[in-house]
Amino acid sequence: MSDVNWTITPGLDLATRAAQAVDRCCALGRFTETPGTITRTFLSQPMHDVHRVLREWMTALGMDSFVDSIGNLRGVLRAANPQRLVIASHLDTVPNAGAYDGILGVVLALALIEASLESAPPPFGIEVIGFSEEEGVRFGLPFLGSTAFTGGFPPELLDHPGKDGTTIGQAIRDFGLDPSKLSNAVFHPETRAYLEFHIEQGPVLEKLDLPLAAVEGIAGQSRFHIQITGQANHAGTTPMDLRKDALAAAAHWICAVEHYARSTTGLVATVGRLQVKPGAGNVVPGEVEASLDVRHLNDSIRNEAVHALLDSAQQIAAARGLTFDAQPLLDQPAVLCAPDLTSSLRRSLRAAGYNDHVMSSGAGHDAMIVAPHIPTTMLFLRSPGGISHHPSESVLVSDVAAALETGLCFLNDLEKDF
Ligand SMILES: [Zn+2]
Repeated sequence: MSDVNWTITPGLDLATRAAQAVDRCCALGRFTETPGTITRTFLSQPMHDVHRVLREWMTALGMDSFVDSIGNLRGVLRAANPQRLVIASHLDTVPNAGAYDGILGVVLALALIEASLESAPPPFGIEVIGFSEEEGVRFGLPFLGSTAFTGGFPPELLDHPGKDGTTIGQAIRDFGLDPSKLSNAVFHPETRAYLEFHIEQGPVLEKLDLPLAAVEGIAGQSRFHIQITGQANHAGTTPMDLRKDALAAAAHWICAVEHYARSTTGLVATVGRLQVKPGAGNVVPGEVEASLDVRHLNDSIRNEAVHALLDSAQQIAAARGLTFDAQPLLDQPAVLCAPDLTSSLRRSLRAAGYNDHVMSSGAGHDAMIVAPHIPTTMLFLRSPGGISHHPSESVLVSDVAAALETGLCFLNDLEKDF
């Protein structure tokens, strides 16, 4: 960590602070389970190192810090007004990750506090949280950190085993924490608002040539397992008009899915997995198993789409004399951000001199878990190339500076509500 400056430097402009935040994210990327890549899962050894470094920074900023019993890093900057704003994101990563997904939100929060302390620190408290688990890599269950924060962590989940047989409860003990004290992870009763800075992880802001956007909500999601059944037969001896080709029907339907989603504003629909049986070059495909993933911020538009897409599969299959079946796997409603808080964030974008673009998130975030409990909003930063969950994930220093500037205006704007 020696070539990155972690000292508190007064008098820096926001561009320099932003460059420092980006350097710090890269430096923290060196704490990994797999050297040469960034892989840092829930309660892994390198998470201790990330906590240690971030806690040193918190202490230098005058914050009290601790690690709660699910492994969330918590730092509080106290003020005369006991009410607090939480600014949070996650510290865990997917395997072979980039340096910014999650951790940028935590580093940016601390950089924002550092910048605010120089001018006029807010009269209310700010709690910065680095959630321990969002990606779901180690135990196949996402959002463990934010779920415990909302008080919704079911105690029986402590017995849930990971791939190596270690349970969540044992992993907590191995990290030096006490799983019987999960109540210490629950949010402080004076918490009034939640803000999450996160990279967009998509190409929309880049396409619009905008650095930032306020997030109005996180799209709901439907997933299905689809099965189209025809008749496998000899590719040489079965004439075209006597075939029951399940793959040809699936191909027809996949194009219909794409067409429907393209003509419905805000809808995304994906067939991402296809298994063809028997899967031989000289056999007419007799059976296809496929996935369907449908997302929209408006649940009734999503449900209408699901209905139409399954209906179209049914009709395409029937017209070819095939059978069709769909099993629902997931029906997750959309989560809306708090309109007042998102309006405040949009005012802050304008006050900082930026376009107040508002968009929905197609990916899940900790904010989605928190929103039903605490007024929540999110600020997206442009993802160059739309790339994330990949080592080439990046962020522009000027966009980080824009986020800092917007964050300062947001702290100002919140003063009247606290
Ligand atoms: Zn993330």
